[in-house]
Amino acid sequence: MDKILVIDDSPVQGEFLCSILKEDYDVTVCQRAEEGLDAAKDGCFSLILLDVIMPGMDGFMMLKELKETEITKHIPVILLTSLADIQYEERGLLLGAVDYVAKPFSPVIIKARVDTHIQLYHYQMHFQQQAMVDDLTGVGNRRLYEGGSVVRWREAIRFGLPLSVCMFDIDKFKLYNDTFGHPAGDKVIAAVAKKASSYFQRATDLFARYGGEEFVAVFVGNDGHSAFEFLKTVRQAVEDLHIRHNSPVCEWVTISVGGVTLLPKMGDSFDTCLKLADTMLYDAKRLGRNRVVWYSENREQWMEK
Ligand code: GH3
Ligand code: MG
Ligand code: MG
Repeated sequence: MDKILVIDDSPVQGEFLCSILKEDYDVTVCQRAEEGLDAAKDGCFSLILLDVIMPGMDGFMMLKELKETEITKHIPVILLTSLADIQYEERGLLLGAVDYVAKPFSPVIIKARVDTHIQLYHYQMHFQQQAMVDDLTGVGNRRLYEGGSVVRWREAIRFGLPLSVCMFDIDKFKLYNDTFGHPAGDKVIAAVAKKASSYFQRATDLFARYGGEEFVAVFVGNDGHSAFEFLKTVRQAVEDLHIRHNSPVCEWVTISVGGVTLLPKMGDSFDTCLKLADTMLYDAKRLGRNRVVWYSENREQWMEK
């Protein structure tokens, strides 16, 4: 059941909307914009019905804040108000509301509009998700990574959590293609992606194909050493697929992994973090491949083998 958030300072209006929608939707009602904002950030709402005139933060201010916040900006907002003035309608739509309904409204009309916007929201989410999936492997693509890494970086700062960034790359893959052909190489990339991504299943984990035969993972909560140990398991799992490489340098298809765990603070840069992970990957290649090299905030470095 889709979740709808109603924000209206009038308990009567809130109750009225709830009675119209509760048969088909899971409705939450808040009477203050501040309370509504917190609810919007925590819950997975498919639509927000927002009253414009409220004491304290009004509907326009709240809408602006919703549209500027990464985790709420995609939620469609319908403004509800008794203000019939066209300027208010313009202002609301320019701020990013998807629709505008003047009070008093008919229950049939409001229900029909809500149903339409919920349907549109589902289409939008479907296409957005499709646009973030890599065709060859079915895991996230570079676009997912670009957006997702920013969100995790900000959340790690907000909650004071350690953040790990890991880059890995299939070893001697040009040679694999040269030996077995490009279509066989494609299958290997997909198999490696499937195996490695199966280890990143926490709700906050981000796993994506960075490009070519290179992948990236971003995850929060682990300290440096546990992240290093975890990636050793992932690296071993790929080796254990036992995809024959048949080259003088390696018997099986393997990956080299570089990573870093930091406690990001306001003003730090994610790019620096990514560059460090890339440097660790370079070290893993230089030291002989099929290994994990990890760096942590307290300047410790761990190397496999
Ligand atoms: P290293 O161990 O240093 O990473 O060696 P490498 O040969 O893997 O590295 P290099 O960067 O020289 O070659 C990467 C190869 O990956 C070359 C390229 O053809 C292949 N590759 C990149 N994307 C794809 C793809 O989508 N499909 C296939 N089959 N091969 C790809
Ligand atoms: Mg490679
Ligand atoms: Mg490469």
